[in-house]
Amino acid sequence: MRQMQLYLHIPFCMKKCLYCDFLSFAEDEKTQDAYMDALIREIRYYGEREKDVLISTVYIGGGTPSWLKADRIMALMQAVRGSFALMTDAEITIECNPGTVTEEKLAAYRAAGINRLSIGLQSADDAELRLLGRVHTFAQFIRTYELARGSGFTNINVDLMSGLPGQTVRAVRATLQKVLMLRPEHISSYSLIVEEGTPFYDRYHADVQRQQAGLATELLPTEDEAYEMAKATEHMLSKAGYEHYEISNFAKPGYACRHNIGYWRRAEYLGLGLGAASLLGEYRCANRRDLAEYLRLFRQIDILALRQENGEQCPASNLHATVEKLSVKAQMEEFMFLGLRLTEGVYREDFERFFRIPVESVYGEPLRRMAAAGLLVKREGRIYLTGRGRDVSNYVLAQFLLEETKTG
Ligand code: SF4
Repeated sequence: MRQMQLYLHIPFCMKKCLYCDFLSFAEDEKTQDAYMDALIREIRYYGEREKDVLISTVYIGGGTPSWLKADRIMALMQAVRGSFALMTDAEITIECNPGTVTEEKLAAYRAAGINRLSIGLQSADDAELRLLGRVHTFAQFIRTYELARGSGFTNINVDLMSGLPGQTVRAVRATLQKVLMLRPEHISSYSLIVEEGTPFYDRYHADVQRQQAGLATELLPTEDEAYEMAKATEHMLSKAGYEHYEISNFAKPGYACRHNIGYWRRAEYLGLGLGAASLLGEYRCANRRDLAEYLRLFRQIDILALRQENGEQCPASNLHATVEKLSVKAQMEEFMFLGLRLTEGVYREDFERFFRIPVESVYGEPLRRMAAAGLLVKREGRIYLTGRGRDVSNYVLAQFLLEETKTG
């Protein structure tokens, strides 16, 4: 059977955070119900089509899936189980926001087989949470975390964010200290990215430009301070027994997120729901992002038409807004710059198995250059970034775009 990962997008949030450019918004219950019906039909449709698929991980993301009533998530998981074969030890994650979770919901998640929670905290400082426009306090996070443990969840991720306006290295350490006292199995720590189209962009984009130019900033941390924050995070978490298995992700041994590792290893995944992306064979597809359109298409059409491209059967449906057949070059680039995000790096053997050509034949020049600069190591069949390489990972990863290597 063909192994695949499943991503289900729930685009609803109580209120939009000020930095957020994800596909998420507040909607009333009636719209939420209509959406969940459509999503369940999409799951059933693909279940009918992909009979030989074995699902290894399920990730219910958003948005704030935990904002929905418990029975909606139960129905969703019922549809997944009724439509697909799931591995017996499948990792099944749901994203939760503090303050939106109750004992009843957590019990329902457990009953539905969900075995991993990812809780969005971002900061343990209430002033920082207010600045970000988050709807919860740190005390609400603690309550949510305790409820989760009390309900029997033994695999919990906590999402954190650094590089916030006005944040100091000391503040980052203080947040980590508080979170470490709870001993979550997994911690993600991303730097704030000020995205265009968000209220944060209006406020801070001049500072972003200064930051990128290495100049003094007014509100955002300087490049050096952001580096210090990342180093402090790395140091504190490794001292506390977490493995730094990906640039922004840390886990206790055995608790690295299998779903996300699949993305970095280019495992096939099926993304269902508004705006969700899929990697199906050589095709990368993304669903429509307009809610009204997504809902309308389901009302109009029962059986989704398949597109034919060059006489080939393409896995896309009429719900997809974009369908791209990846060239071999694009697949190689993805293989390298996603795989090198992992501390373990990429395996030469895997590259050769996928592309039937040794990695050195394609990337010999950048591999030599990056190794000579001490940014990358080739050892025991693996290629991986050194500590210094991880510090400047954007630069190193960019070397694996084939236009830049002049070898493509
Ligand atoms: S909770 Fe998450 S998805 Fe929702 S608005 Fe905030 S950052 Fe965006």
